[in-house]
Amino acid sequence: MSSNLTDEELAALMPSELCQHQTPIPTQIVSSDEFYPDPQNERQREVEARLLAMADDLGGKQGFDRRRFFQTAAGMAASFVAMNQVYGELFAVTPAEAATPAMAQERASALKDQFIMDMHTHFLRDDTRIMGFVEMRKAVGKAGWNTELNDHEQTIEDLKFNNYKKEMFLDSDTKIALISSAPSDIEQDWFLTNEQMADARKKMNDEAGSRRVFCHAIFTPGQPGWLDKLDAALALKPESCKGYTIGDNTHKEISRYPWRLDDEKVAYKGYEKMVKAGIKNVCVHKGLFPPGIEKQYPNLRGFADVADVGKAAKDWPQLNFIIYHSAYRHVGGDPKVALAEFERTGRIAWTSDLADIPAQYGVNNVYGDVGQLFATTLVAEPNVCAALMGTLIKGLGADHVCWGTDAL
Ligand SMILES: [Zn+2]
Repeated sequence: MSSNLTDEELAALMPSELCQHQTPIPTQIVSSDEFYPDPQNERQREVEARLLAMADDLGGKQGFDRRRFFQTAAGMAASFVAMNQVYGELFAVTPAEAATPAMAQERASALKDQFIMDMHTHFLRDDTRIMGFVEMRKAVGKAGWNTELNDHEQTIEDLKFNNYKKEMFLDSDTKIALISSAPSDIEQDWFLTNEQMADARKKMNDEAGSRRVFCHAIFTPGQPGWLDKLDAALALKPESCKGYTIGDNTHKEISRYPWRLDDEKVAYKGYEKMVKAGIKNVCVHKGLFPPGIEKQYPNLRGFADVADVGKAAKDWPQLNFIIYHSAYRHVGGDPKVALAEFERTGRIAWTSDLADIPAQYGVNNVYGDVGQLFATTLVAEPNVCAALMGTLIKGLGADHVCWGTDAL
């Protein structure tokens, strides 16, 4: 997986003067390396201007400079107030919280012990050759999304186990994380092997003295020997299984074994084994296939949407089908395209199709994960984020929409 952006493009991503503001939430989109993001647009500029003005006014009254104000709960509240002013009333926040640190702190404190399970996380094996994510972390730092990533030159070590442990459990509020992976037709280019996921789970849980980490077993329908490999993986007692219907997502150009969830002759043989092994949850990578990617890999297009989910869910009521990225097509693409589509039709590809499945098929075992789509749309086009959440909650139910970040 190589970055599609040149070093020059990466360097130009961020007007450097913005980074110095260190606003609590970023005020422009960041690339996921598959498309070149717009520079900060009109409305994002307006959010930033309002936020800086509030910091001077409200922070000033408390005797805080901008930097200090942005570190407080009131500074965070101010960010959402500014976004409400520009995008419409999307966030449950009051101007009083932005003006009154004690009030904002009260809300923050009330939330701080909530249970957070991140059901979609990754790190890379020690001998990985996959370097594209280093560029993504650099871009995230440069764009101001997470300025801590500018503290040191990002290297491949930042994508490995030690930093995973630090960022997931020491630097965030996450209580439980599920380690995932991505398969490849090239053995060495799996993010992690099934054994490596199980080893990491043991290492962390032993150290914690409690069950803080779950893990996937990846299954690869159609690859030679896949059923034997699934047997071996299930013997590791994974909490759940995960598959990529487009086959090799890392090397799409050579992906030889795409498959369908509703293929009775292939995938169903795997489900049979899973049910026997006591597996309940089957996670499936869907979406992340904006038009630019379709143009490059038209042969995989038919495996990226959710046309195969409904029948599989109906035929396998013993299993849950958890659709990663909620099949949102435009992850890694331009959220403006999704906004225009939603305004024109009231739908967003392919998340609306996912949300239709329970009513269409009379099933209750289909779930949506918000990995990547929540964070990127919240910042870049919060109305798209609201539309996605509303669509998912209405169609799948509030308890069928799952928290996942897709970090590191
Ligand atoms: Zn992922």
